[in-house]
Amino acid sequence: MVSRPHGGRLVRRVLSGRRREIFESQYREMPRLEVPLERAIDAEDLARGVFSPLEGFMVEDDYLSVLSRMRLSNDLPWTIPIVLDANREWVLNEGVSAGDDIILTYHGLPIAVLTLEDIYSWDKGLHAEKVFKTRDPNHPGVEATYKRGDILLGGRLELIQGPPNPLERYTLWPVETRVLFKEKGWRTVAAFQTRNVPHLGHEYVQKAALTFVDGLLVHPLAGWKKRGDYRDEVIIRAYEALITHYYPRGVVVLSVLRMNMNYAGPREAVHHAIVRKNFGATHFIVGRDHAGVGSYYGPYEAWEIFREFPDLGITPLFVREAYYCRRCGGMVNEKVCPHGDEYRVRISGTRLREMLGRGERPPEYMMRPEVADAIISHPDPFI
Ligand SMILES: [Zn+2]
Repeated sequence: MVSRPHGGRLVRRVLSGRRREIFESQYREMPRLEVPLERAIDAEDLARGVFSPLEGFMVEDDYLSVLSRMRLSNDLPWTIPIVLDANREWVLNEGVSAGDDIILTYHGLPIAVLTLEDIYSWDKGLHAEKVFKTRDPNHPGVEATYKRGDILLGGRLELIQGPPNPLERYTLWPVETRVLFKEKGWRTVAAFQTRNVPHLGHEYVQKAALTFVDGLLVHPLAGWKKRGDYRDEVIIRAYEALITHYYPRGVVVLSVLRMNMNYAGPREAVHHAIVRKNFGATHFIVGRDHAGVGSYYGPYEAWEIFREFPDLGITPLFVREAYYCRRCGGMVNEKVCPHGDEYRVRISGTRLREMLGRGERPPEYMMRPEVADAIISHPDPFI
């Protein structure tokens, strides 16, 4: 049996049928809050059970509890606040209060109905310090926090429609992956989080995990990019090439997840694990410096934090970073190779990017030629 959803029940809050008709006739009279793409994505992820057991944006009790002790107020592990912000002026102009229904719009398109339960203010400095372990505005997550509105709105929501998604045909929601894993007869599934094209180090880590489980969920995060990142469709093509040529048939599911990236390091590693539990994964591969940025987090902090969550309900897999060893003659890691640094060839993402950017195939001990070709053949692989 695949894993139970976090909190025991998979959330599904998509407006349909009679209830949808009722709302459609009332849209125009309801207060509207225009949200950026990040919040529209949160709303869809909430409604489709990615963040089970959350049924909407956090109320203050849960928010403060997550901030201070990395648990919801009911004690369930939860590390990243999922909150909706608004400007004070909007709250005053609309005169909204608890019990009101609000339409969230993205580019004017109705996304979700939020039933307001709680309006509260937040201390962004404290938020930054707790979630990101720094108040430094150069940290991308901190910078994004400081730009948000002063007021938070908590409450359950119902999805009208997700924001437009160019990767819809590559997207599977938790209810779908669960059915798929069940059909395949997988009892154990390891999920791999990525935002990159696969090199041999990634393949080594995935195959190390796959040795012990029935199936692998390769789960790229999409839709949250900075300059120089690989385009989502390039990551998909590269993985398709790798899976076709180097994985046994039927042991990998490749699916895209559109979810915001916070760069919150250790806290986000736990968050990524919880989310994959909702997709049905029983194991989660945690990278070295997982979801880190710059030098805000120690290289193994994202592993150590899991000790604080014996009740997580998904097993973290800590596979050491792989490199090519010239003495061993293959991909190995520090735990299995006794040879010195002079024999170790580490795969540098920056170097790969430079080579691929020039249209060059990297050496075969770094990247599979079919993967390199899939990337190079794209007219414009980078953002
Ligand atoms: Zn060696």
